Amino acid sequence: MKRREFLTTAIGGATVAVCPGAEARPNHEPAPEAVGMLFDSTLCIGCKACVAKCKEVNDMPPVIDAEQQSWDSARDLSGDTLNVIKVYTDGSGETKDAEVDGFCFEKRSCMHCVDPGCVSVCPTTAMRHDPITGIVTHHSDVCIGCRNCMMGCPYNVPQFEYDELYGQIQKCQMCNQAGVERINNGQMTGCAEACPTGATLFGSRTLLLEEAKQRLTLKPGEIYNYPRGDIASPDSYHEKQVANYKQHVWGEKEAGGTNVLHISAVSFDKLGMPPLEERSASSIAEGVQHTLYNYLALPAIVLAGLTYVVKRNTDSDSDGDES
Ligand code: SF4
Ligand code: SF4
Ligand code: SF4
Repeated sequence: MKRREFLTTAIGGATVAVCPGAEARPNHEPAPEAVGMLFDSTLCIGCKACVAKCKEVNDMPPVIDAEQQSWDSARDLSGDTLNVIKVYTDGSGETKDAEVDGFCFEKRSCMHCVDPGCVSVCPTTAMRHDPITGIVTHHSDVCIGCRNCMMGCPYNVPQFEYDELYGQIQKCQMCNQAGVERINNGQMTGCAEACPTGATLFGSRTLLLEEAKQRLTLKPGEIYNYPRGDIASPDSYHEKQVANYKQHVWGEKEAGGTNVLHISAVSFDKLGMPPLEERSASSIAEGVQHTLYNYLALPAIVLAGLTYVVKRNTDSDSDGDES
């Protein structure tokens, strides 16, 4: 750890010293025509129809638990599961959407970040961000299996198929990868289509963000007509009493924003969302990286780091010889 801390400090200091103009680029902006989803935790009943539909669309096998041997019981994302419903409980767990003594459901799948870390760290462009739709896709034909994307994702989304001989990265591609292409064919995502309550709603990010903000203005207990399917042309509506929403649309701003938005009556830190600043990690890392290359300073900094490591190792060996 000490060596890592030293190197980080040394490289940071050297960067500023050698490249005084090193600075982050701005976050990428959401694509004007980006598509996405709005997950409203207060509407989710935990039926997991979205999980089953996701497996059907993506041709993925069930995950059979040793205790529950008769049905898919995936508890987390994996190489075989691109979408999972998790349960929050507190205390007696009696009241839906109550943070204390309550429970609620939370969906986990790719957030389709506006400024995605997975794309930024991928050395081969296997991870790509579509500038029109905003969808982030993985392309196995050019993936070298380095797994940088797993480290670059703040949501722990990309999963590696460790149990396969020629394992690949798997993640939700918003049902728009080669061979599926639901969005390109004018369909909505599988999970939004299957959701019976509209908890997972598909559509334009702009419209979904407006809808999310509108819901946050509603009074708890009042009746609202919730759309189901695609927000631009809902399959149907259903009336429901409004829950006590937290005044926060997750994904409006976090790390540059996401095309998948979440709202909830339970705070997002309790639902396991990571603490994120508004500035994306990609904007900082790419800004510094480009500056380093512009100043042709990177080789000198790497050499300084390697020299330190070799010197430390040599000193330790000498110390060992003397004892
Ligand atoms: S959630 Fe993770 S995998 Fe999905 S786009 Fe964002 S960084 Fe990439
Ligand atoms: S968008 Fe498609 S791949 Fe992503 S979670 Fe929904 S059904 Fe699964
Ligand atoms: S289908 Fe809809 S209601 Fe059912 S678990 Fe998925 S998001 Fe929740």
